[in-house]
Amino acid sequence: MFPVSCKQFIGSPKIVRHLVDRYCTTDRTYQLASVLKGRYVSTGTKDDPQKEKSILYRHLYSRILAGGPITIAEYMREVLTSPSAGYYMNKDVFGTEGDFTTSPEISQLFGEMIAVWSVNEWRKISNQSVQLVELGPGRGTLSKDILRVYHKLGLSSRVSLHLVEVSPTLSDLQAKNLCKTYEEIDNDKCQSYYKHGTTEDGVTVFWYRTIHDVPSGFSIIIAQEFFDAMPIHKFQKTNEGWREILIDIHPESKETEKFRYVLSRSATPNTKFYISEHEPRDHIETSPQTAVIIDYIANFLIGNGGFALIADYGHNGDRTDTFRAFRNHKQQDPLTNPGTADLTADVDFSLLRRIACQNNRLISFGPVTQRHFLKQLGIDTRLIMLLKKASDDSTRKALISGYSMITDEDKMGNCFKFLSLFPSVLKDNLNKWPVAGFQAIHTPE
Ligand code: SAH
Repeated sequence: MFPVSCKQFIGSPKIVRHLVDRYCTTDRTYQLASVLKGRYVSTGTKDDPQKEKSILYRHLYSRILAGGPITIAEYMREVLTSPSAGYYMNKDVFGTEGDFTTSPEISQLFGEMIAVWSVNEWRKISNQSVQLVELGPGRGTLSKDILRVYHKLGLSSRVSLHLVEVSPTLSDLQAKNLCKTYEEIDNDKCQSYYKHGTTEDGVTVFWYRTIHDVPSGFSIIIAQEFFDAMPIHKFQKTNEGWREILIDIHPESKETEKFRYVLSRSATPNTKFYISEHEPRDHIETSPQTAVIIDYIANFLIGNGGFALIADYGHNGDRTDTFRAFRNHKQQDPLTNPGTADLTADVDFSLLRRIACQNNRLISFGPVTQRHFLKQLGIDTRLIMLLKKASDDSTRKALISGYSMITDEDKMGNCFKFLSLFPSVLKDNLNKWPVAGFQAIHTPE
């Protein structure tokens, strides 16, 4: 690693070359010889091909130039949430006009089913008021649909909403979508939240940058398509043992905004720390940030009471290469034009369960498919009710197509999964009164 004081020289090609020669070539994890040629971030001459490149690309380029190849986790973090130009930070990326769409954006039925589920589980275990905590709320549509159901059930005065959102642009969109009034909170007020508002029905809403800032209290924690945005590390098994897959500057980067994958020259601290001795796969992805958040949720739920629902596409620790990028609803190379596409990797539900259930802290139910969960919750009955009430044909068509998009096996019904987590002290209760949506479906003989 560079000494910290060297960071100030990043961007000055001569000094960077000197430092790389001096500190890195002999004693580095990565093969730097091929990395050095012709790479630097311009301070801006007329013919310089780097001049017109995007801020994010130039930032990543100079970082790799100065410090050598970066991990995929570092790349994802910069591309998605870098304050200056991260993918989520400055624009609305959802819906048909955006790069991808999500179940709550497709159909109100999705949020309504989650609302019914959460009230059912809440009333089974507590009479206390509840903090509804949503991680990565996008446009705020899911929380809005849930609060509408809570209002209909007369529960608005029993709930407060706590949104964990890193993007200032999306938090504004959420506030406009959810609140009658809202305000930003000055940093010098030393509050754990950065924005605060009130909905039409009088529910108070708070915004936090991380889950660690959410106050103590009985909570329902919901994460819908949140964990797939968490940075991952990727590892490849070779004849010499495990190596980490890193991101380096592409030789053609003068023409295009493009990076490339390289393998670490030897094992890295990450290969030693994150890969189990008994790992049967030869290529794996793992997300330490996911593990940290789930670990925090486990302790939080034990200390405060409550439960969590996690919905995402994912697998049970058996998939290998799932890192990808989406732009305009199409897949693209994650290493080309960083910041213009969403980066995502399938969630490893086996990791979530392992961390959550460590030391008998929580018990888990699922993962079950989205179709299974929504059908058990009664989405078909709710659809029929809405169709009866619909005033015209186009509303009816939209309801049916939304329903089929989120439940059909060949659409979002099978690839999206639901996992729920409860404190293990509730085990006996939940055996007696099972968690809705997670029981096996019994087909008549
Ligand atoms: N749940 C929404 C949006 C999913 S997209 C839906 O289903 O429609 C991911 C969301 O997580 C966005 O709101 C994004 O800004 C937020 N996000 C991504 N990384 C984050 C992080 N590290 N901390 C908090 N929020 C994050």
